[in-house]
Amino acid sequence: MPEGDTVWRTCHRLDQVFRGEALQRAELRWGRLIDSDLAGMTTLEVVPRGKHILHRLEGGLTLHSHLKMEGSWRIQDAADRVPTVDTVRAVLGTSRWTALGHRLGALHLVRTDEEDSLVGHLGPDILGADWDLGRALANLRGGALGSIHDLIGASLLDQRNLAGIGTMWASEGLWVERINPWRPVAELSDADLTRLLERIKRLMTRACERLPAESYVHARSGHPCRRCGQTIRVALAGPVARERTLFSCPQCQGGLAPTDDGRPQAPLSSGQPRSRTGYRRQRGR
Ligand SMILES: [Zn+2]
Repeated sequence: MPEGDTVWRTCHRLDQVFRGEALQRAELRWGRLIDSDLAGMTTLEVVPRGKHILHRLEGGLTLHSHLKMEGSWRIQDAADRVPTVDTVRAVLGTSRWTALGHRLGALHLVRTDEEDSLVGHLGPDILGADWDLGRALANLRGGALGSIHDLIGASLLDQRNLAGIGTMWASEGLWVERINPWRPVAELSDADLTRLLERIKRLMTRACERLPAESYVHARSGHPCRRCGQTIRVALAGPVARERTLFSCPQCQGGLAPTDDGRPQAPLSSGQPRSRTGYRRQRGR
């Protein structure tokens, strides 16, 4: 699933293409949005908010999209043919470029002053200009949302606590800082949490420029830990029916997940090609 850094890069590219340009073409192949008429409107900016993409237009409208599991916005030359496949759910174009929204997970058109109806539930954006470490810590501590039973891995993934982190950067940051993903947040000190969040922020900020070719621990179950050689394991984190997979080293990170019986795990996706991000595709979420 695309995480905050992927969305950041996507928005940066869309902003370069559309900012200050009038839409020559705008087709939203999405329910009632098919009737919307955005052609002629000028783009003010395209900005990320957590994993959400906000394409703001003159006249006070925002086209909101979310990439969910495997969505993407791809840019091509305006002269190139738009593929006639039903995975393309939105086509936006300037005189020079066309952006194709492939396999989008969500698409909305709202008034810009009502964006909060879509993104107002999000905690502080770890890559945002308004990142607020104190508020993120308070949210993780459960001041507003959580409970003393909250585990750090799942809490990092809950976008209401803080926005932008997905399974990859949660696994990577927890491994670097040697924190067990299934440890209760309540057992971690403010210093631990600060160190963890600052680490993840640094990893993601660096990935905004260039995604590293190899992961530390993400999608490496069945392979030796890059630090200690112990076999990396994968287990589920998060609420029932919304579990996500996290990867960790039982040696470096202090033990197995509560649901992990310790049986051998085959290397993930062995034999499958690498995804375009350079990471092997992971199963599930
Ligand atoms: Zn290790």
